[in-house]
Amino acid sequence: MYNDINIEEQIAAIDLASHEPADEHSRELYYIGKLRALIREKSAEIGRALTACTVTFGCQMNARDSEKLAGILARSGFVLTDSENADFVIFNTCTVRDNADQRTFGHLGRISHLKKKNPLMKVAVCGCMMQEPGNVEKIKKSYPFVDLIFGTHNIFRFAQYLYEIYDTDKTVTQIWQKTDQIVETLPIERKYPYKSGINIMFGCDKFCSYCIVPYVRGRERSRDPKEILREAENLARDGVTEIMLLGQNVNSYGKGLDNPCTFAQLLEEVCRIEGIHRVRFMTPHPTDLSYDVIEVIRDNPKVARHVHLPLQSGSDRILKRMNRHYTKEQFIELARRIREEIPDVSITTDIIVGFPGETAEDVAETLDVIERVGFDNAYTFIYSPRRGTPAAAMKDQIPAEEVKVNFDKVLSAVQRNAAMRAGALTGRIMEGLVEEVNERKEGYVTCRLSNNMVVHIPGDASMIGSYKPILLEQCRGFYFFGRIADTDSAADPQ
Ligand code: SF4
Repeated sequence: MYNDINIEEQIAAIDLASHEPADEHSRELYYIGKLRALIREKSAEIGRALTACTVTFGCQMNARDSEKLAGILARSGFVLTDSENADFVIFNTCTVRDNADQRTFGHLGRISHLKKKNPLMKVAVCGCMMQEPGNVEKIKKSYPFVDLIFGTHNIFRFAQYLYEIYDTDKTVTQIWQKTDQIVETLPIERKYPYKSGINIMFGCDKFCSYCIVPYVRGRERSRDPKEILREAENLARDGVTEIMLLGQNVNSYGKGLDNPCTFAQLLEEVCRIEGIHRVRFMTPHPTDLSYDVIEVIRDNPKVARHVHLPLQSGSDRILKRMNRHYTKEQFIELARRIREEIPDVSITTDIIVGFPGETAEDVAETLDVIERVGFDNAYTFIYSPRRGTPAAAMKDQIPAEEVKVNFDKVLSAVQRNAAMRAGALTGRIMEGLVEEVNERKEGYVTCRLSNNMVVHIPGDASMIGSYKPILLEQCRGFYFFGRIADTDSAADPQ
């Protein structure tokens, strides 16, 4: 893995008998070194290696964070497993919706039984949910067997906390309210060898009235572009061909940097790296998606032909209450311009149904945007109040049974449009990255096109990580069945 280069030499160079080093990077390596000795001892005692499992909820940024957790666990001597019946289990939580909280509590309820059977087992909970004091209290009271709790700002101290719980057998709770530190140089255990996310910024300043993210992830902080590019180059050297630039609001990347750099400039620079074949980004905010970014996508075939543009609502009245800073017509104009400039682009979105005070007229406005933009796909959500956000305090919350009717209308409009747009691609040959073996259909692999569409084709594990010209044969709504085209001469790299 890219940042494991020299990690072993760096750990070996640290004097583990001395005090912890001052800089964060060395300090964490120091704790990995110390923890490794402890884990080795425990493994020798029980006559087998200790196992560890990371369970991730939520967004791509959480998935990336879990790769860091897994990297530290693997470097510390744990054998990683997907089973929660492990010696160490960590839940990396999400709190964007209430059902994400409930899922974490559900897992904790189940794990208490496993822990009773395995006295060695230690359990940790981290991530966005832990930045809400009520959740930390609830875990301490209802799930007292949890050994380690920390939040989003101090994930880079994971090795130290892990060492403390194994060294002392005491519980550790460490919640920071903020940090200005960015530590992205620790070991990472990537889930996929051929693609990887790169965090380019953290936090969000937008304060959409329904969203908890600015409260749990803090204010926007951008990473130095040189460090991002170095990480991308190392990933490319390690065989990664597809990169996803990650941030809560990637288009406001660069604010506050000593050497100013816009998101468009960063995108262009990443595309210049040899070996990188595709670049994606997630997530832009419609008000910040500037024309220079559209131009970079248009002019650079390495940038995926996919823009995820969260609409949330088509009603100006609701958009204002959501604090989204754009109108319905501005959104439609932006989508029109993207489609005009970037042929074959797919535009996907997020839509919230049932925001406080939403009326049938407001839903009709949302349906109108769906028809006029013709989204290639959309994640539709029923509004879920998050404690501490302005929207949760609004008086006119809508009963669930009323929301369901509107939700079904929005969902069926989204599905109809998505099927129509996908169906129009039938017969085309497009380039797909083979991502994994299809677990549901024997003898098939699953590929992803530049426009983010999924295609299942006959194949086997040896094809994983390769790009193939794919003939799109049968449209199944928002995905395809296809096969490798007879010749790649007609392949459309888009
Ligand atoms: S842009 Fe809005 S919805 Fe997205 S993370 Fe920021 S506050 Fe939340």
